[in-house]
Amino acid sequence: MENMANRSDKVAAKWRASVAGQGWRNWPRLALSGLDGGLRRLLPGRCAFCLAPGEAGQPWCQACFETLPWNLPACPRCGEPQPSGSLEGRLCGHCLAHPPSFDKTWAPLRYQDEVVSLMQRFKFQASPRAGSVLMALLEAGLTDVPRPDALIAVPLHPNRARQRGFNQAEWLARRLAPRLGVPLRLARRLGDTPSQRGLDRSERRRNLKEGFEVPGPLPGRVALLDDVMTTGATLDALARACRRAGAEAVEAWAVARTPFSQLW
Ligand SMILES: [Zn+2]
Ligand SMILES: [Zn+2]
Repeated sequence: MENMANRSDKVAAKWRASVAGQGWRNWPRLALSGLDGGLRRLLPGRCAFCLAPGEAGQPWCQACFETLPWNLPACPRCGEPQPSGSLEGRLCGHCLAHPPSFDKTWAPLRYQDEVVSLMQRFKFQASPRAGSVLMALLEAGLTDVPRPDALIAVPLHPNRARQRGFNQAEWLARRLAPRLGVPLRLARRLGDTPSQRGLDRSERRRNLKEGFEVPGPLPGRVALLDDVMTTGATLDALARACRRAGAEAVEAWAVARTPFSQLW
């Protein structure tokens, strides 16, 4: 991952240098002429995936949009991708055995193929263009989903926030909340607090890793937002904190869901 980011940084520097040298009028030709594939795919006004002219107002063309890895069918509770042909709306085995603390998951895409490269550009290079494309995909996937009373971004661990420089879930939430016309509420990860007393080491670690605090009282129906939902453990812990703070219905929202099969 590090190597990939470094390599792309070098390509980006080369690209910026050549653009600066030749003027912005040459930008489309330069970009089309064989620089880094990732950069080519993020030209404004063009499809982010194939470079054809974009749909009116959208950063994709219809053909690419339709072939994206849409998360269908998926478990309605945890968003776990289900094999094609599975019954729409059926709970997965995990949710039947150990239902999570959130009631529903809306994760429109699967974390694979083009979605992975787009997400990595957003995460590791803080590319606002990649972020905007992901944001537009999220919005497209949430079109028919009822508005929550509040939106809460998954907070990044402070150490990781420092390393990476920004919280991509919060970046998305700060843009999505005003577009939905709902307030953004902030949560924070708990540090090593006195409530850790009496727990053994592995319990402490678990508590530290998964503990959240959400200032209450929360409105009845809240949606939690993450960029990629992996195991769902983080969203589960945050959902518990939201219920403690007064939320009655909690939904997990994410741009993409990692299939369990990719985790182990
Ligand atoms: Zn396309
Ligand atoms: Zn499930």
